[in-house]
Amino acid sequence: MRFIDPHIHVSARTTDDYEAMAAAGVVAVIEPAFWLGQPRTSVGTFRDYFSSLVGFERFRAAQFGIRHYCTIGLNSKEANNVPLAEQVMEILPLYLAKEGVVAVGEIGYDEMSDAEERFLKLQLELAKDVGLPVMIHTPHRNKKQGTTRSMDVVVDHGIPPHMVVIDHNNEETVKEVLDRGFWAAFTIYPKTKMGNERMVEVVRKFGSERIIVDSSADWGVSDPLAVPKTGRLMLERGIAEADVVATCYRNAILAYGQSGQFNESDWLTPAPIDQRTLFEGNTVLRGQSPRVDEQTADAGVIR
Ligand SMILES: [Zn+2]
Repeated sequence: MRFIDPHIHVSARTTDDYEAMAAAGVVAVIEPAFWLGQPRTSVGTFRDYFSSLVGFERFRAAQFGIRHYCTIGLNSKEANNVPLAEQVMEILPLYLAKEGVVAVGEIGYDEMSDAEERFLKLQLELAKDVGLPVMIHTPHRNKKQGTTRSMDVVVDHGIPPHMVVIDHNNEETVKEVLDRGFWAAFTIYPKTKMGNERMVEVVRKFGSERIIVDSSADWGVSDPLAVPKTGRLMLERGIAEADVVATCYRNAILAYGQSGQFNESDWLTPAPIDQRTLFEGNTVLRGQSPRVDEQTADAGVIR
């Protein structure tokens, strides 16, 4: 079975993680631009970060057989540094036009401050201008209120709900998100919040339409294998295979494919892995022998 992890901060993960993900069936990932654990102090660090999401990290993932896509946006925490946020807004259009950028995100509320609201609205307008889907991060505190308010703002800006993924849902928010026509994503954190077991019950109760499973794995305690593990647990617990495919693979394509940048053919007929390839003169290897897959006559790949 193939899996997509449509929300994972792989820049913060290791090559062992990439190998384990590929072995578990993950074929593609979406890495949303986000906060790095401490505030950035100049627009140049945003520029370099965005460049790495569309550049080196894309290359690095490919070296392990995983297609890497990203979303570009100003996260809610750093929206509170208004002078810096204004400078970041100026460089966003440049990066939103790059290959492999599938949405504006992750944007939304953290503390629900006025500054967060201002930059959320500006970025929703930007998404409309460039015609990209939106990935909304909902706050971890005041979850219910923040989720409702995020959707209200999207609707106020005239963006159709089918263009917007509301992420970090739980049992309290999912019904409203689905009823209003949005995509409802769930982040599976180990030992907290939405565990795998709870996710199985959500799919049992609400079905698979417009529901998406992701790991949001980053530099904190998280699990880059959360999507394949949850998918396998669903099967074990009697969820139909079609629902597992929808929530752990297909729905991400339907949602982010609206960008025109996220196509199944990218990973179904992959270029063979060749770890001799360099990115601006750099390799992922440190003296190991490179993995070099052969292309077969029918464009399949021998591993
Ligand atoms: Zn995230």
